[in-house]
Amino acid sequence: MKLYSTNHQSPDVDLAEAVFRGLPPDNGLYMPTEFTKLPQSFWDNVHNLSLQEIAFEVSHALIGADVPSEDLRRLVNNAIDFPAPIVEVETNTYCLELFHGPSMAFKDFGARFMAALMSYFLQKSQKQIHILVATSGDTGGAVAQGFYKTSNIDVTILYPSGKVSDIQEKQLTTLGENVRALEVNGTFDDCQKLVKQAFLDKELTAKFDLASANSINIARLIPQAFYYVNAYAQLKKQGSDLPVIMAVPSGNFGNLSAGIIAWKLGLPVDKFIAATNVNNVVPAYLKSGIYEPISPSLSTISNAMDVGNPSNFPRMKALLDNDLETLRALVVGYFYDDETTKIAMKDVFDRTGYVMCPHTAVAYLGLKAYTNTLTKQVNGVFFSTAHYAKFLDVVEEVVGKQSIPERLEVLLSKEKQATAMTTEFADFKAWLMNNL
Ligand SMILES: *Cc1c(COP(=O)(O)O)cnc(C)c1O
Repeated sequence: MKLYSTNHQSPDVDLAEAVFRGLPPDNGLYMPTEFTKLPQSFWDNVHNLSLQEIAFEVSHALIGADVPSEDLRRLVNNAIDFPAPIVEVETNTYCLELFHGPSMAFKDFGARFMAALMSYFLQKSQKQIHILVATSGDTGGAVAQGFYKTSNIDVTILYPSGKVSDIQEKQLTTLGENVRALEVNGTFDDCQKLVKQAFLDKELTAKFDLASANSINIARLIPQAFYYVNAYAQLKKQGSDLPVIMAVPSGNFGNLSAGIIAWKLGLPVDKFIAATNVNNVVPAYLKSGIYEPISPSLSTISNAMDVGNPSNFPRMKALLDNDLETLRALVVGYFYDDETTKIAMKDVFDRTGYVMCPHTAVAYLGLKAYTNTLTKQVNGVFFSTAHYAKFLDVVEEVVGKQSIPERLEVLLSKEKQATAMTTEFADFKAWLMNNL
């Protein structure tokens, strides 16, 4: 597998280098230089394959010889050890549940696959890698779980004190072993700034092999293509061959970029719906052709999508030849405010009993808005990126008391272990020097 930088000012690299570097030196994004469509025989037979078998075929098509087949099969089986079912919520309207992994959000796919891949590449070396990651909530939990007990890798998570939910904080602070949490007396931006400064610090980078685990890493993108193909396979298994529409609740647009990768491998999708909250940079761009970041980003109840300048947007464009009309032919954008999102959560619950987190509801709304413009019958799939219990405050305000899955319930009784940290880089650096 060869990867180029979207800024075209850095040399092409192989997968291992792209994964450990994260970002190319020219600050672009790493992208595969070519996509080979999966053969027709694969698509004809896809409904007979398990998620893990699909994951192997898709990752093999992308990664090629960088990981030998047998190793890749083992790696995928370990990383993707939870299901991604579709649930029919209304006639021909399906929810793709991406929250059955350890942190109960779709970021588990990316984090677990990246951890497995890094660990595989490190196997033969004596190197110890130190992952630094800043989180506003969901990323940290998935990364912590993904790298938990991975040999040769430790993880330091920085999170803003008092600004993540109870459950999210417990997900970051109760694992122990090779996962440590720093509770920063500041905002998410402060956390991010500390991490960025550490990567630029000559003394730290000379002494330690630092790596990042943020959402622009190509290793997080690859496994997200798996569940698009798997969702299609499940529809096909039901014997339905209606055209397929997939609606993706989006923030940084990693998820939708992975969908477009799956499409480039041959996934038969009619349209993707880019559904956002009022941070509507991409839907606005699709409409006007003008790209205007929102700064600072707006706070909403679907806060994992509060992104004012989506970092994966250049990837999305590059996948479609940087051509607006090509993008418009495949992707339709919609955006919703909090009030509309809550009404959808309540409406779907009242009619069907199905509970959606706010992000999921945004995707549902986008799907319905688009399919209502059609005269033909379709299969619509809206993605549920998190279990509702991760956003229990707003969910219970809208639809009333709900049960919490046991996996999250047990967390609440565990004891938090975090080190308090100031926003001063000197303090953070001293801690790293003494503790890595
Ligand atoms: C991260 C996240 C999103 C946004 O995904 P992107 O790939 O950044 O577009 C949506 N929903 C939830 C619950 C998330 O955690």
